[in-house]
Amino acid sequence: MYIYLDIIEDFSCEMCGSCCLNDWLVTLDEDSYQRNAQLFMKTGRGEAFAQIFKRLIDKSGLGEYAYIEKKATGGCWFLDENNRCLLQVEAGHHHLDHVCQIFPRYPMNTARGTELTLSFSCPAVIRMASRIAPLTIIRSERNPITIPSNNDVVHVYPEQQPVWNPLRYYFELEQHFIDIMQCRSIQVWERLQMIKDTAQAINCLTRDQSLGQQITKVFVDNYELLDGKMTAEQELNYYIPDIVLENFFVNFIFKKPFYIYGLQPTIQLLENIWQRIKIARKVVTDPIVDMECTKSIIMEVEFEYSHNRRALFVHKERHG
Ligand code: SF4
Repeated sequence: MYIYLDIIEDFSCEMCGSCCLNDWLVTLDEDSYQRNAQLFMKTGRGEAFAQIFKRLIDKSGLGEYAYIEKKATGGCWFLDENNRCLLQVEAGHHHLDHVCQIFPRYPMNTARGTELTLSFSCPAVIRMASRIAPLTIIRSERNPITIPSNNDVVHVYPEQQPVWNPLRYYFELEQHFIDIMQCRSIQVWERLQMIKDTAQAINCLTRDQSLGQQITKVFVDNYELLDGKMTAEQELNYYIPDIVLENFFVNFIFKKPFYIYGLQPTIQLLENIWQRIKIARKVVTDPIVDMECTKSIIMEVEFEYSHNRRALFVHKERHG
């Protein structure tokens, strides 16, 4: 079974070069490192290879072997002035490291099957998400995209958790949080607050055999509350920067941070992200400027907290 956000079907790279220009580390596994070593040695470019491909002393335990050096002016070594990847031009798309082949796609291995979404650090993705229709989760027997196998970013198997652990009910939690985030009768910050409060309440429930029933009761109470706030569709006033934010948070939840990091750390993560978004948009009154500002802060936080796990590791090391 493939479970994915509908935007994935329509994505195509616009070759804007943003992903190759930012300051993340483009890391390689050992196979990719050796593949490039062969390519460079075969053409007598051993010195260039040593200059471009650097071994990593990997303290993060993320299994990365090497990284591609940046240009002195910033950006990936292989990015030319027309935003073309020179490594791809020389050796083909299949030669690239899996990270470069897959980005901005985000594959996940879960008990439900293969789950897929996109990273909001790509401007083309944000453009696709700037639409009024809510994001939809599609379930299909058909794989919507072709990507190299064994590149799952996360592995999620809730049934391996004991019955007294809230993460045992993870898929129900995820759907509930997405339902809250897509309830447009209340403001985005109110939805976020409700998600944080709900996660907090669930974290404090009695951890025994009745946990599943207790969680269901929390959901029912929340749905009743949301039903009471329901506004007629024609009365909803759509503001695109808020819609993009909604879609960003839906995507964020779908990437399963509550399972990966746990309830409490994710509540804190959401709070940090929201504070940064709030500060960035604070002085903006013009909707067009607000849209640009919202897009750029979303891309920034996505890089930092979601896609670039090395950055998250470094952040954790510094701040605990
Ligand atoms: S940021 Fe997105 S659209 Fe731009 S080059 Fe990278 S994948 Fe393509």
